[in-house]
Amino acid sequence: MSQPTGTRSLDALLEAPLASEGDGVVIHRAFPTHQMGEIDPFLLFDHFGPIDLAPKEARGFPDHPHRGFETVTYVLDGEFEHRDSFGNHGRIGPGDVQWMTAGSGLVHSETPGRNLYEHGGRLQGFQIWVNLPRKDKMKAPHYQEISGEKIPVAKSPGVECRVVAGEALGVQGAVQTHTPIQYLHFTLQPGATVLQSAPATQNAMLYVIEGMAETQGTAVGRFHMATFAGDGDQIAFRNPGEAPLQALLLTGEPLREPIARYGPFVMNTREELQQAFDDYRAGRMGTIA
Ligand code: FE
Repeated sequence: MSQPTGTRSLDALLEAPLASEGDGVVIHRAFPTHQMGEIDPFLLFDHFGPIDLAPKEARGFPDHPHRGFETVTYVLDGEFEHRDSFGNHGRIGPGDVQWMTAGSGLVHSETPGRNLYEHGGRLQGFQIWVNLPRKDKMKAPHYQEISGEKIPVAKSPGVECRVVAGEALGVQGAVQTHTPIQYLHFTLQPGATVLQSAPATQNAMLYVIEGMAETQGTAVGRFHMATFAGDGDQIAFRNPGEAPLQALLLTGEPLREPIARYGPFVMNTREELQQAFDDYRAGRMGTIA
């Protein structure tokens, strides 16, 4: 069998519906929805906002547990504060990434920063859940926190790419991942084109944050997610519009393991899921002081 070459064709194109999560955070959820399930190894894709909040209007995600996967938070506008049951506490502001390996489990809260809550302002960001392979699900919780100015930026004419994970235009990403994953934030000026390596073995998707993309002759509008077939090893897209295009391009090697999932726990079997609930209820994931 020959190696696939060339650009990958479009598989699905869907608009991420509006939803409300946590304490009433407005999000566009690309998946999971009735129309689009997991895209192995990605379990969830939420775009919060963009929303202009009045003072005291900002909402967050009060204390809740996670086990068996990673939560990746990327803030574009506004700020979140987080606390967890190991005593960790921090703030994620514009451009910052928090790649949290929940592993064996913790309890955390994700709330709007005090400044955003008191004075209002714009909130926009992403939370993406990345599944862990069976062998890593029970490893100790771990954070990779990368401030905005430490995220490598790749550039070519009319194109800028913040390389959170993976590689773009010869620039390596900031984050170490458990399995091969690319997490790329592209900004394209009108008329600019990107040809990005996306191995045929990896699931791949393009989400438009702002502006309009065109890929394989199809327009991809704002809040739309395009997924790609495994028939090539590159993704080609361009900005056909008159305003800058901002898009996230994600690729990941599928784990191809059974998924037992309920709420904040993602394991391989029902027994492990039950154990996660039992451990949480018994306080074995801790509580936030
Ligand atoms: Fe969480």
